[in-house]
Amino acid sequence: MVKAIYPGSFDPVTYGHLDIIKRASKVVDELIIGVLVNNTKNPLFTMEERLELLQETTKEFLNVSVQSFQGLTIDFARQNGAKLIIRGLRAVTDFESEMQIAQTNHSIEPEIDTMFFTTSLEYAFLSSTIAREVAYYGSDVSKLVPPVVNEAFHKKYDH
Ligand code: ADP
Repeated sequence: MVKAIYPGSFDPVTYGHLDIIKRASKVVDELIIGVLVNNTKNPLFTMEERLELLQETTKEFLNVSVQSFQGLTIDFARQNGAKLIIRGLRAVTDFESEMQIAQTNHSIEPEIDTMFFTTSLEYAFLSSTIAREVAYYGSDVSKLVPPVVNEAFHKKYDH
């Protein structure tokens, strides 16, 4: 029974995240998406909204669940009995910090490994920040985020 967590801010979930979720859910038995309560970042969407959007957009994946968490990712993995941490890699720019985090986590807990999925080409440029920026200026984000997220953007930005 392979259990994994997929941690992140998901502010909000994009097609890039969903691509990783879909692919990761095929190689593990159970996947828990962990939405980080990050006190240093000022999120656009509240925790409830981020959880709800993830729940709505991942409901077709029966082995995927969504939770919020605080503190260290490695502790969240331990608490859930997960042996794997899933992360997505978009470009070389992600690589350096991701490797540092993965090595730190592995030195804290050698029983837990990080598994990277390289992004699908069509989402290589996509991040929540990009989606927020495009939506903020009223441009179409329907190719970047699922319809419920698109609607949530319209409500948030009132256009
Ligand atoms: P963080 O704030 O920790 O970067 P995010 O919510 O932005 O968290 O992302 C969570 C994970 O999803 C990270 O591993 C990130 O690299 C990955 N990810 C985000 N966007 C994409 C994408 N377009 N393609 C592949 N992976 C992605």
